[in-house]
Amino acid sequence: MQQLLEEITQQLALETERGKVADYIPQLAEVDPHQFGISLATVEGERFSAGAAATPFSIQSISKVFTLTMGLGKLGDGLWTNVGREPSGDPFNSIVQLEHENGKPRNPFINAGAIAVVDAIMMGHEPRETLAELLSFVRYITDDQSLYFDHQVAASEMAHKDRNASLAHFMKAFGRLRHDVDKVLGTYFHQCALAMSCDQLAHAGLFLASDGVNRPSNLRVVSPQRARRINSLMMMCGHYDASGEFAFRVGLPGKSGVGGGILAIAPGRGSLAVWSPGLDEYGNSLLGARALEMFVQRTGWSVFGH
Ligand code: GLU
Repeated sequence: MQQLLEEITQQLALETERGKVADYIPQLAEVDPHQFGISLATVEGERFSAGAAATPFSIQSISKVFTLTMGLGKLGDGLWTNVGREPSGDPFNSIVQLEHENGKPRNPFINAGAIAVVDAIMMGHEPRETLAELLSFVRYITDDQSLYFDHQVAASEMAHKDRNASLAHFMKAFGRLRHDVDKVLGTYFHQCALAMSCDQLAHAGLFLASDGVNRPSNLRVVSPQRARRINSLMMMCGHYDASGEFAFRVGLPGKSGVGGGILAIAPGRGSLAVWSPGLDEYGNSLLGARALEMFVQRTGWSVFGH
């Protein structure tokens, strides 16, 4: 495995086409697009990594997997009152479908859905209390107390919030949000500004690869049924309107973020994190997806077989 990750890293270092860093969040536009990291944590407790796997980056929408997990923990199936679970087929920040479905976002991984999940987990609490809870949850599943929110990235996104603010206000007009819109957005932007390395992210995803149990601590995070359901949402909705393409090419539950990270889960086997800041036209890491495609072709770890 170690050799494979190194081969993938070396091969991708030769690529000249690297995609474009997200520039609608000015702080992310400054990231060097030539970085690449990959990390694998197996259910047996082994760790492999190559490239810049220890460098923290902005996980952005990958954080939506963690807030969804918390939301299901707090509300159970009640979460689905205000969030759907169908692929959207629209871009990550699209508003168009909200009008047709009474302000109910299609799934928890598009921006509107994630904003609705944040509102649900706040449960009357202040943003700092919800963020403290989120931080302790990700520190727990990563077994790493050093994780932090990058406040500059959050501030950068807050200063350019118009698009997400529109989604939030639109949902609020339909009674889908209970809290003050600015408080919900502030919480959401900090959640997205979580900084993690590939090594930390691969560890964090391990509970989804092992029926809800964190490895190697053997502590249960969620039930097997919940882990399976989160994985299915990642497979269907984790790459926005390119989720079908990612399933076709990689065939693993995955969640991307505009920081250039992707978390991919190989159920029963392990958790993979890749990071390359250049994005394709859908806002997903160009080389990250290619790395995962190379990985499954060599290992046969796709859930659909070889
Ligand atoms: N914070 C980003 C936004 O709301 C997340 C988008 C993403 O990572 O796909 O636009």
